[in-house]
Amino acid sequence: MSSIGLRIAAGNTRKQSKFKRSNLPSPESFWAAHGITLKAKKRWVMAKCIFHDDHHASLGINTETGGFFCHACVAKGGDILSAYQLLVGCDFVTAAKALGAWEEK
Ligand SMILES: [Zn+2]
Repeated sequence: MSSIGLRIAAGNTRKQSKFKRSNLPSPESFWAAHGITLKAKKRWVMAKCIFHDDHHASLGINTETGGFFCHACVAKGGDILSAYQLLVGCDFVTAAKALGAWEEK
């Protein structure tokens, strides 16, 4: 049996996919979709946490990066991709695709 066919197949399976951060929605629109309004003039906004059953405003959100930190449940991340991953429980690529920032060619 020849191995040529196998070699060709292996060479063609790599897809050109890539993450495009510029396609991500703005932190403002992402958090608005989860009921949290970011005020652009403030660097940090405190809101009720979406990662646990919060009764106070425990979740700090950075209005520039979309990063977040909860003082109660210690949920944290550097951007809206991490927020989506944590919320849904998925990996980076799934989050990037869901947020429209993954291009497959
Ligand atoms: Zn929390």
